[in-house]
Amino acid sequence: MSPIDRRLHPVRLPDAWAPDSWRARPARQLPQYPDAGALEGVLRELRALPPLVTSWEILALKQQLAEAQEGRRFLLQGGDCAESFDACTSEVISNRLKVLLQMSLVLVHGMRKPVVRVGRFAGQYAKPRSADSETIDGLTLPSYRGDMVNAPAFTAEARTPDPRRMVKAHARSAMTMNFVRALIDGGFADLHHPEYWNLSWVGHSPLADEYRRMVEAIGDAVRFMETLSGEEIHNLNRVDFYTSHEALLLPYEEALTRQVPRHWGWFNLSTHFPWIGMRTADVDGAHVEYFRGIRNPVAVKVGPSVAPDALLRLIDVLNPEDEPGRLTLIHRMGAAHIAERLPPLLDAVRRDGRRVLWVCDPMHGNTETTRNGYKTRRFANIGRELELAFELHAAAGTRLGGVHLELTGEDVTECLGGARELTETDLERAYCSTVDPRLNYEQALEVAMLIVRKHGA
Ligand code: PEP
Ligand code: MN
Repeated sequence: MSPIDRRLHPVRLPDAWAPDSWRARPARQLPQYPDAGALEGVLRELRALPPLVTSWEILALKQQLAEAQEGRRFLLQGGDCAESFDACTSEVISNRLKVLLQMSLVLVHGMRKPVVRVGRFAGQYAKPRSADSETIDGLTLPSYRGDMVNAPAFTAEARTPDPRRMVKAHARSAMTMNFVRALIDGGFADLHHPEYWNLSWVGHSPLADEYRRMVEAIGDAVRFMETLSGEEIHNLNRVDFYTSHEALLLPYEEALTRQVPRHWGWFNLSTHFPWIGMRTADVDGAHVEYFRGIRNPVAVKVGPSVAPDALLRLIDVLNPEDEPGRLTLIHRMGAAHIAERLPPLLDAVRRDGRRVLWVCDPMHGNTETTRNGYKTRRFANIGRELELAFELHAAAGTRLGGVHLELTGEDVTECLGGARELTETDLERAYCSTVDPRLNYEQALEVAMLIVRKHGA
């Protein structure tokens, strides 16, 4: 056991906590279900269904995040803003896995350290919204809150929260997870054959040459090592892949919160790594109450309005014993605000000696709406926020240990700019997201290359 293994265990059960103790706290962003009986029936069904992940995997991830806190790994977390039931297809799942694997290859090669791979998938079906309702032509209906809650079409039927959608979300998550596990176990992620991960664009992208050179260099290194040792390096044929989602819909999360035979305490077994969104991170609120009692590693989004004192209180509640790997803070300030807002938080946490993993989400503080009505983000702002994040951490004596991105393996046109210089007119061509704009595969890979340029070994 490494020293960290032993340090993962000093925690004890939190006081006066139960999987449903959040119910006594003010809960933001939860839907109003019209039929309490139907909701209760669904929760009973969910409580009996098998979980999606295991406590062993969760603790293994916590260990890796503890290593990332110490600078020995880098976290890559990415996927859709909102998964949709319709996009639970083999192509979407495998393309997303490919782009995440390619990005991690770029990061491993450039940073010379292992990457912790975490997908925003297999459960990213519930969304917080800035308004509870939407009015179009005099008709007011509840906002769309993700496929786990209601449907995007603007009709009363589609927008009425339906608890059966939670069962469907559980099933879709299980299918996604099953396919990802099968691909990885089957050698999809084999470093001997990174060409398996190529998406059709690789041949004609402006970034293709740089990527190809890197793949060749890795292939050479692998062959060199194997020649030296006289045998094949077997652990290169599989990688660990973990899942995460915003644990917003607390009734669902509670139903998947379980005790297991060989580990003490309670685990959220719907995902390895749940996070609290910016809109539900009040220290006295229901979401923080729920999160404080589970043993998973947890993350919190930290926006520009969070004050240093409030952040320290949140850390006290979520990680009172300073357990390694337990707490990740994902800052999402926006390129225009990060230089002013981030340093006071970094200083406060460092001065107090709190152990956290700092991660940058350069997406959510850089959202804007174009003249033709598209919610978008400029690649230049995303890149700028990331660069500033590295510089501000270096200046503060803290470490940026990962990135959190919204991306897809599909050829969408949702974010502006990038190597192909997408314009506002391009957005009309393939804008598919039902909520926030995602980097397409090319822009995502470009982010990975930018990180390496900024932070490469
Ligand atoms: C998200 O991650 O999709 C999201 C809503 O982020 P935030 O809570 O940071 O706004
Ligand atoms: Mn989003």
